[in-house]
Amino acid sequence: MQPVRRALSEAESKPVYDLDPSQRVVALTIDDGPDPRYTPQVLALLQQHGIRATFFLVGECAVEHPELVREIADRGHHIANHTWTHPDLRHMSEGAVRDELERTSDLLHKTTGRLPTWFRAPGGDFSPVSLRVAADLGLRNMSWTVDPRDWSRPGTSSIIDTVLKDVRPGSIVLNHDGGGDRSQTVAALKAYLPVLIDSGYCFTAPPN
Ligand SMILES: [Zn+2]
Repeated sequence: MQPVRRALSEAESKPVYDLDPSQRVVALTIDDGPDPRYTPQVLALLQQHGIRATFFLVGECAVEHPELVREIADRGHHIANHTWTHPDLRHMSEGAVRDELERTSDLLHKTTGRLPTWFRAPGGDFSPVSLRVAADLGLRNMSWTVDPRDWSRPGTSSIIDTVLKDVRPGSIVLNHDGGGDRSQTVAALKAYLPVLIDSGYCFTAPPN
């Protein structure tokens, strides 16, 4: 069955940087997977703490590991679009951007039966063109509030310290389970999730 898409208004297509600050709620976002080395470890940690997260999946990884994509969805997490090849969208034509986004949404729909409603530009680098294409494909743009730069492997304690120092009610926290060695990210999640829970935070996967 062909997915039904609803084009978004200009207001709906504006990037979201944080959530309602009046609630002690944090959104965990996990980018660049799925990866058979790290995604199962992240899923186990989230399950252990009863946390729902949003996974921004790269199409060319998702097509290699459909079983992981289905497992993420089956466990109640949000499946979101992070392009097909993780390019810098800022210098690409509208047609090329559309291909990156549409192909990924179609694959995720085919794999899980769900059409993604959230999109994140690689590196957070959206452009007027990518905002227009995402809106046309019914994808809202999610940015982030807290960036521990875990992809650069700064050390597990650096990731933990940055998250715990910067997190506020309504924060969107950026993490990575793909794109390289993510063992520091897994170790950091293992350490900082219980601290956030103990300090009264709840977790959400933002609905669209
Ligand atoms: Zn990314």
